Amino acid sequence: MNSFSVKTSERFEMIDITRQIRDIIREAGAGSGLCYVFVPHTTAAVTINENADPDVPRDIISILDRLIPLHGPYRHGEGNSAAHVKASLVGASETVLIEDDQPVLGTWQSIFFCEFDGPRMRKVLVKVIANP
Ligand code: ZN
Repeated sequence: MNSFSVKTSERFEMIDITRQIRDIIREAGAGSGLCYVFVPHTTAAVTINENADPDVPRDIISILDRLIPLHGPYRHGEGNSAAHVKASLVGASETVLIEDDQPVLGTWQSIFFCEFDGPRMRKVLVKVIANP
C-alpha cells in the first residue's frame, strides 16, 4: 500500500491529487489493473470530476455548503457535523482502472481530495492491484 499527505489550507477545499495517483501507478508498474484510493478521515472525501474549469470544484463546494449548512441544528458536539455529512455523501474511496501503467480517466476528469473541515494535514491511501 502507498500513501501520501495532503496539506489543506481552507475549511472547504478540493485539491487535485491526480499527479500523485499517476506517479504511484507508474511506480507500481502493474501494467493493467485497478487503483483503489481511500481517504481515512471522517470529514474528508475523494471524488472524480472536472478540473479543466476551476469553477466546477468551486460550484461543488458551494452547492454542498448550501445543502448542508455549517450551523445545524445538529446533535454532534464537536461542531463539525456538516463536514461529517458531506464526507459521507461524497464518499471515502474511488476505484480507477489502470491500462499501460496509466489511470484511465476521461479527458476532463481529475481525482480530487475533498476537505470539509480544514485546514489540516490529511492522508490518502492508495492500493494498486495488478491483473494476474
Ligand atoms: Zn466530529
